[in-house]
Amino acid sequence: MRKAFISPSKYVQGEGELNNLGNYVKLFGSTALVIGHKDDVARVNDKLESTQKNYGVKLCYGGFSGECSREEIAKLTAIAKEKDCQCIIGLGGGKAIDTAKCVANSQKPVIIVPTIAATDAPTSSSAVLYHTDGSFDDYAYFKSNPNVVLVDTEVIAKAPVRFLVSGMGDALSTYFEARACAQSYAKVNAGGQCGGAVGTKAALALAELCYGTLLEDGYKAKLACEGKVVTKALENIVEANILLSGLGFESGGLAAAHAIHDGFTVVEEAHKFYHGEKVAFGTIAQLVLENAPSEEIEEVIDFCKLVGLPTCLRDFGIKELSREKLMEVANKACIPEESVHNMPFKVSAEDVAAAILAADKLGA
Ligand SMILES: [Zn+2]
Repeated sequence: MRKAFISPSKYVQGEGELNNLGNYVKLFGSTALVIGHKDDVARVNDKLESTQKNYGVKLCYGGFSGECSREEIAKLTAIAKEKDCQCIIGLGGGKAIDTAKCVANSQKPVIIVPTIAATDAPTSSSAVLYHTDGSFDDYAYFKSNPNVVLVDTEVIAKAPVRFLVSGMGDALSTYFEARACAQSYAKVNAGGQCGGAVGTKAALALAELCYGTLLEDGYKAKLACEGKVVTKALENIVEANILLSGLGFESGGLAAAHAIHDGFTVVEEAHKFYHGEKVAFGTIAQLVLENAPSEEIEEVIDFCKLVGLPTCLRDFGIKELSREKLMEVANKACIPEESVHNMPFKVSAEDVAAAILAADKLGA
């Protein structure tokens, strides 16, 4: 049986670590293009200025419009060429990070600097493309993962707490989805296009560690982030949200939780909620779908309530979900290419609709 595991070449996390960015740029050359929204760049400008001086490197700023679109990628690729940048830096949230991966396109080295820990995008070798109006365009897959992922925990601790909590929601699904994929021998992203591969024991172990870390340190990390301070618990959660969840999803596989998240994109009320917030509810629904033990479902719901993740439809501001709308969500979650079909049993749209309604009652 073919198994595969992929990861970034280097992951470095620490307080004030952004001060060492120049050290990593120097591995690849003297000039780098920074792709980041001006507000995110402004937040860390002191560190960017000092690292340039200390390491004798030049950072060029390409800006970032806010969408990882083909137009934006073309514009930034031209700037990288014009300024002769030897490496690309993605600085900010998921969309700036994904744009940097697309501009580098596995042809230039890429350094990822997440300024929030809201998703598991930083470590992966894929990106999500959007149209300039914000609607979904396509997925992009690259030959390699980022060369360096550099996480400054001081910067993450000072970002709004909702991002960290949302990242915990995304990380919450990782173990349960990897477990389902292991049971069904589903193909994982790490396997690439060459006939595919299933996950490794390593990926499943990382996913399990991810879940255990959330239970142990999630609430403590949330409080630390509210106080804008770095504690060991916060460091552990940053690692869970970015590294463990990132490796876990890419090499362990996705299943129903993310498919149900995708289904919820048809619900107007859910639009203002973050990726991880919807994935958290999708996780509860997946556990109902697979009829997980009551203690496990309760553990997940209790965790969500403790850190402030949504556990029922009312938490998304959905007062009533009509039968038509519910089936629209369920049908979207069950389109042929969706990861719901990685579950170790056959899943129909009716099954998903029932799981959503039952999860809503359990989490209310
Ligand atoms: Zn996710």
